[in-house]
Amino acid sequence: MVSRVIPVEPFDLVIFGGTGDLARRKILPGLYRRFVDGQMPAEARIIAAARSENTDAAFRETVRAAIGEFVTKEKQDATCIAAFLDRLSYVRVDATGSDGWQALAEKMRKDVIHAYYFSVGPGLFGDLARRLHRFGIAGSRCRIVVEKPFGHDLESARDLNATLAEHFDEHQIYRIDHYLGKETVQNLMAVRFGNMLFEPLWNARNVDHIQITVAETVGVGGRGGYYDKAGAMRDMVQNHMMQLLCLIAMEPPYAFEPDAVRDEKLKVIRALDHADPAQIVRGQYLADEEGRGYREDVENPDSRTESFIAMKLNVSNWRWKGTPFYIRTGKRLRARTSEIAIVFKDPPHSIFGDQESHKSNVLVIRLQPNEGINLKVTIKEPGPGGMRLIEVPLDMSFKEALGPEADDIPDAYERLIMDVIRGNQTLFMRGDEVEAAWAWADPVIAGWEQTGDRPIPYDAGSSGPEDALMLMHRDGRRWREVKA
Ligand code: NAP
Repeated sequence: MVSRVIPVEPFDLVIFGGTGDLARRKILPGLYRRFVDGQMPAEARIIAAARSENTDAAFRETVRAAIGEFVTKEKQDATCIAAFLDRLSYVRVDATGSDGWQALAEKMRKDVIHAYYFSVGPGLFGDLARRLHRFGIAGSRCRIVVEKPFGHDLESARDLNATLAEHFDEHQIYRIDHYLGKETVQNLMAVRFGNMLFEPLWNARNVDHIQITVAETVGVGGRGGYYDKAGAMRDMVQNHMMQLLCLIAMEPPYAFEPDAVRDEKLKVIRALDHADPAQIVRGQYLADEEGRGYREDVENPDSRTESFIAMKLNVSNWRWKGTPFYIRTGKRLRARTSEIAIVFKDPPHSIFGDQESHKSNVLVIRLQPNEGINLKVTIKEPGPGGMRLIEVPLDMSFKEALGPEADDIPDAYERLIMDVIRGNQTLFMRGDEVEAAWAWADPVIAGWEQTGDRPIPYDAGSSGPEDALMLMHRDGRRWREVKA
């Protein structure tokens, strides 16, 4: 296969929190994969920064172990690993003090791109921005990558935007939402805007409704302290699901360029109606056979935080008025699956009579597992027996369609980091987008707090509370099954 990988410019990438969970599982293995694929120039360097005492050698060994654990065996080559580890170093830096900053400043080369990845707790984002500036390493060629969560509500998001804006221009700030780095999410745009087939049908006249599901089998794990203050609304809906909804609902941007795309997404968020509390179902998973439910996981026996949410949303503009968007996400559900389903309307008149098997067309964009796109169409059942209709999938699993090339699809994080180095913000959230999403979410959350709303318990391993099914049944529709 001819490599289409284009190397990026030389860079110094500093990962604050370079010894943390995200760096170990995603960022560093991702960078190694880009290195193996030849995208990293010989002069590229990666510097991990954290508070603990550490040495370059010890840090490199932890990265070697992370590559062993999180990179496929085919890409693990001893010479490549050694060459990659050579680029890595460790600096002890305290985000809240002055320890280590001078040493870091001295390490940064003058003539290369500087990228600073804030992979630390959100309480430290402002501290890092201020110190980068104070120690003279926040020049105009530098960029910062800010992890989630970006604020806890509108006010904190505004404060954080304001703090970052004191030291960096908007074009230097990369607010990461790794959902936007997924191959299928970008394919959603390719399908919509690269074909004549779908876009003319992409509106309330032809689309009955849209479903977005992000289901996880895991519980809150070790993140209980954070999660119990956030819940599914803050952790998933305000950011990831909102971004997916925007990409489906937005008007065609004039170009696939950062502000063109982000302007259109912002218009969608602004066109979202206030969520009607009667159209929202919140849930909390019950104890499994080991006796661990949500409340045990977060060690809060009175918790009112939702680990599941389903809601019906309306986008009030010419394109979508009358076509609801149903979204749901939850933990400890039956299967791990993320998908967007565009459910088209029935043909206006059936010339084949009332056939039960005659179903509406559905375009399914699968984010995981097995990324791909699937269109359900109605055909005649082959053979004798008259005109009997059946539904068949026109399936485009990337693995089947692209063969071995599909195995080379970069993971969301590695793609996004390379976009940072290239200076391409298309797949990153702009400050006003994040604020608009909080402005929409805040009143919903405030409403629950005011009324003392309690989530409905649901069985671990189910597809969420029964009431979530009713949310659609009331409208004569049904959710797609939660299955892998
Ligand atoms: P983590 O495992 O707790 O790691 C935190 C890192 O920050 C460690 O390297 C820690 O090293 C360093 N650190 C803490 N305090 C510091 C300070 N004062 N100065 C310098 N370094 C400091 O956290 P994580 O799970 O990797 O998460 C990092 C960020 O990514 C968070 O904002 C999180 O919300 C976000 N995120 C994580 C995931 C995930 O899957 N883990 C997913 C999405 C988003 P020392 O203790 O040695 O200082």
